[in-house]
Amino acid sequence: MTKNHKRFETAVIHEGYDEKEMLGSLAVPLFQTSTYVFDTAEQGERRFHGTEEGYIYSRLGNPTVRVLEERIARLENGEKGLAFASGMAAVSAVLLSLTKANDHVLCSAGLYGCTFGLLMMMKEKYNITSDFSMMDSKEEIRSKIKPETSVIYVETPINPTMKLIDLELVVEVAKEYNIPVVVDNTFSTPYLQRPLDIGCDVVLHSATKYIGGHGDVIAGLVVGKEEFIENMAMTTLKDIGGIMSPFDAWLLLRGLKTLPVRMDRHSENASKIYEKLREHPQVGKIYFPGDPNSADYSIAEKQMSQNGGMISFEVKGTKQDAQEFMNRLQFIKIAVSLGDAETLIEHPATMTHAVVPEESRLEMGISDQLIRLSVGLEAWEDIWEDLEQALDVV
Ligand SMILES: *Cc1c(COP(=O)(O)O)cnc(C)c1O
Repeated sequence: MTKNHKRFETAVIHEGYDEKEMLGSLAVPLFQTSTYVFDTAEQGERRFHGTEEGYIYSRLGNPTVRVLEERIARLENGEKGLAFASGMAAVSAVLLSLTKANDHVLCSAGLYGCTFGLLMMMKEKYNITSDFSMMDSKEEIRSKIKPETSVIYVETPINPTMKLIDLELVVEVAKEYNIPVVVDNTFSTPYLQRPLDIGCDVVLHSATKYIGGHGDVIAGLVVGKEEFIENMAMTTLKDIGGIMSPFDAWLLLRGLKTLPVRMDRHSENASKIYEKLREHPQVGKIYFPGDPNSADYSIAEKQMSQNGGMISFEVKGTKQDAQEFMNRLQFIKIAVSLGDAETLIEHPATMTHAVVPEESRLEMGISDQLIRLSVGLEAWEDIWEDLEQALDVV
């Protein structure tokens, strides 16, 4: 039996695991096995029939993965968790679970590029249409809801402009129509923001980012009501098959233990870098949830406990100036992905958001001069000195 660990910092280390069941092993053992041996043919029959608890085959469940699923469910304050091979395996399983042919999905105005690609595919194959909403007033959200709307799908902060969506507002409207709200909580993690507490129905993650935190695994997680998760486990997970490998779960359990410590430092470092960027003459617009002058600051104060580690900013000049600035960095790495110990920098217009048509890209604020920075865990002074020496020559 797992004890009920009350505080987040404790649960992140202990939830879902009892070493007494595992020969006293302090670390969660890695069950690197594809299948499980039945004592008898009759036991196999009972397991398949669901009349006896126990493992059958690792696509249907694995003890290492199970610990992670229980842990993330507790951290998000949800009933049940489910693990996937990637963030996109999680996104696609959730969207396919909640829609049928000819339905409609209402999304925040700004989505992870592959989520956008998936919605295009769903339109082509199943005539599932989608619309985008700023979600900044109830009237605006209501005006975009159709009789066939079956999901409201939200990212906050939105990548890369860090615009925030007021989840309380979205939930109020969604309840009027009885439409489930799904939140991609990748940028915030449950340490900074817990959408289920606000009344959202499903939370998902690219665990590749802050949850793993060490740039060595690609994975996805979903948390929601027991009935929804169990149904997904038996359909979009089991039959489409995008399961998490036991080794990846093992790496994530290791990474997750330090999530609160890492997020504190990511947020603190990002605040320091934001202050410095603000004073630099070569820096234009800055997008950061911790900016007290931003229009979204009141939303940040309401639903996020800290600003997180992501900052986007414009380098004054041209696209070439932005690229030149990146090329001059010494130890900051040019790479997509985020949430790692290493500070990572990327150019959304030509990298993560290159598929977005130029017009919508500019409308979203993704200019050719925009840079996205995932502030790492290095000494903030070193991060700043690297940015500064590169900015100074632009
Ligand atoms: C990276 C990311 C995804 C996709 O996750 P993968 O693990 O790369 O499949 C989805 N949503 C957001 C916000 C992301 O940053």
